[in-house]
Amino acid sequence: MAEETIFSKIIRKEIPSDILYQDELVTAFRDISPQAPTHILIIPNVLIPTVNEVEPEHELALGRLFSVARKLAAEAGIDESGYRLIMNCNGDSGQEVYHIHMHLLGGRNLGPLLA
Ligand code: C5P
Repeated sequence: MAEETIFSKIIRKEIPSDILYQDELVTAFRDISPQAPTHILIIPNVLIPTVNEVEPEHELALGRLFSVARKLAAEAGIDESGYRLIMNCNGDSGQEVYHIHMHLLGGRNLGPLLA
């Protein structure tokens, strides 16, 4: 059984966060340390520590991450200007929280990915 992270507490609303969307599969909230004018994290409600633990049973929730990203990007007004979706996996990627999360970043020119 994977160890819970602070994101489980955010999903259960046990600690304050700026939740923008929640349903039975996913939760989206503003990143506490935004790297762009729009920086939202979209996470499955079920605890999956990294992409390495993804199973076929998670496909519905992981697909929902994209449809919610699309909706929130439109609401933020960055769907036409552009945005970036990032999911880190393990140490070399810089993953800090071991509950998979999609970063939705936009609102400025993000530059090349591999700068
Ligand atoms: O992909 P990575 O694991 O590095 O990203 C974790 C993200 O979670 C960071 O952008 C960090 O600012 C964010 N975070 C948050 N609220 C917390 C803890 C971390 O938004 N309570």
